[in-house]
Amino acid sequence: MTTTDGAPFVVDVRALLGKPGAYQRLTLTGAAGPNVATAVVTVAEDEPVTAEVMLESVREGILVTGSARTTGDAVCSRCLDPVRIDLQADLQELYAWSLEEAEVDDLGEPGPHLDGENLNLRPPIRDGLILEMPLAPLCSTDCQGLCAQCGARLDDDPGHAHETSDPRWAALSALKADLLDEQAETPKEN
Ligand SMILES: [Zn+2]
Ligand SMILES: [Zn+2]
Repeated sequence: MTTTDGAPFVVDVRALLGKPGAYQRLTLTGAAGPNVATAVVTVAEDEPVTAEVMLESVREGILVTGSARTTGDAVCSRCLDPVRIDLQADLQELYAWSLEEAEVDDLGEPGPHLDGENLNLRPPIRDGLILEMPLAPLCSTDCQGLCAQCGARLDDDPGHAHETSDPRWAALSALKADLLDEQAETPKEN
């Protein structure tokens, strides 16, 4: 196996160095680790992440393609129940042979590159999973949310309703009913 103990997503790529066209297929599973999260969705540090990748030696470096999947935790944005969210991210990243050969972005940060004979898959896995995290998770697409008056979860209580006992609301209801009656009685003018 070409993985380093304790760091399943750091891969020893010695076999691919200086061998254009050579490739390796790997399935790696390890704990998600810290900071795989947004303000809304969190992947627990010990949650398993599985990555299936192909590492391909090309002229400019090592091309990584594949996918990573795991499960995050969130609360439903309508009813606040806990929800588990399956996440699957596509990976496509070109690692330069060295820091010196890495492309530098507008902020002066070097792009992906090998660290000696090691290729660290954690950054693209983390970035890819974060991109897949929904902004407003739902427990189900038709979640009815909570009652605006008492906070009850409406999916648990489909017939949920409140009597309006406030006399002001009763007066308004009566007025509305009158208006609707009037509209119904007025003949249409064409
Ligand atoms: Zn919900
Ligand atoms: Zn209610």
